[in-house]
Amino acid sequence: MNIHEYQGKEIFRSMGVAVPNGSVAFTPEEAVEVAKTLNSSVYVVKAQIHAGGRGKAGGVKIAKSLDEVKAYAEELLGKILVTHQTGPEGKEVKRLLIEEGCDIQKEYYLGFVLDRATDRVVLMGSEEGGTEIEEVAERTPEKIFKEVIDPVTGLMPYQARRLAFNINIPKESVNKAVKLMLSLYEVFVQKDCSIVEINPLVTTGSGDVLALDAKINFDSNALYRQKDVVALRDLEEEDPKEIEASKYDLSYIALDGNIGCMVNGAGLAMATMDTINHFGGNPANFLDVGGGATTEKVTEAFKIILGDEKVKGIFVNIFGGIMKCDVIAEGVVEAAKQLELTIPLVVRLEGTNVEQGKAILASSGLAITPADTMADGAQKIVALVGKE
Ligand code: ADP
Ligand code: MG
Repeated sequence: MNIHEYQGKEIFRSMGVAVPNGSVAFTPEEAVEVAKTLNSSVYVVKAQIHAGGRGKAGGVKIAKSLDEVKAYAEELLGKILVTHQTGPEGKEVKRLLIEEGCDIQKEYYLGFVLDRATDRVVLMGSEEGGTEIEEVAERTPEKIFKEVIDPVTGLMPYQARRLAFNINIPKESVNKAVKLMLSLYEVFVQKDCSIVEINPLVTTGSGDVLALDAKINFDSNALYRQKDVVALRDLEEEDPKEIEASKYDLSYIALDGNIGCMVNGAGLAMATMDTINHFGGNPANFLDVGGGATTEKVTEAFKIILGDEKVKGIFVNIFGGIMKCDVIAEGVVEAAKQLELTIPLVVRLEGTNVEQGKAILASSGLAITPADTMADGAQKIVALVGKE
């Protein structure tokens, strides 16, 4: 789960990570009210969307007066901002963060991520701030420094200090940078984050160290114990299909391709996507309907897949373990009839009662293409949809 920058900064502030003063605004009038409360002559008006790259896309404005704050707020609210992270359709700006303009000396990068290679939380830093870290990793990997954190001790002050020196934080600001890193690690652990990224972290003219941006992703498996975090969810920023899926306990993630996938079990879903790719196709989604795929769930899953205009065909690949194949076949037939499915549908069933299941599909009168193996099914759906 993602949150907005201003919400991330509120969490930072409450846990001792230094950020500029500022607050959210939903209207130009509110933007001016917030600016009046700031002890500054330079204000920054920042579009709040769940995507980065706002600076380059014109979503971060520096205002020198309250009138300018108002003008920029009017310009940004309601605007569709297209950044390299939003996709070409962009995202509508509905909220702004109004904050103090900061006297930036230098920009750095700082992030905590979960490293699957070491099974540890890793602190990463670079003096190449403001630029995407992926870009730095590609062009100048020697400028990225890492500290692997032992979960028993947590981030040790000497590690934070070593990183601060490695990324060339000026001596007089090192202690402040260390304090910020230690507090940021607490945010990561206590809030069950999967990513906490500050890009840029800055040093200021007066030697302060501040988080100028805040990106936080939360581990959705831990949200049940993070009620405060769940309250920050902004459904308007999420894919409506993914919200619908979460209501029915379906794990759904929208992708770019045109082959809808309905699969039970995350591992099988991944394998199915790989197989489709292998045969030259492109999956439109990841979808795990879970172990107990009922008719209702299958119908909802079909509706969600069909809600995506890009989908030109569907591949159902289900293993009848907990659920028997005949029950699944009935669910598929029922859903296909109810939704008057017109696009190609390839179904591969395997497991308990597979023969009965296949018989149900064959006698349904629907144009369902049966498949015997995962490879067979993937090839058939790719042929029916056509390669992109
Ligand atoms: P994004 O990552 O979406 O582009 P950022 O919050 O990183 O958005 O802002 C982009 C750039 O705008 C920063 O790298 C920084 O140079 C400038 N900026 C952002 N906030 C402030 C601020 N409070 N004061 C001065 N400059 C800022
Ligand atoms: Mg940024």
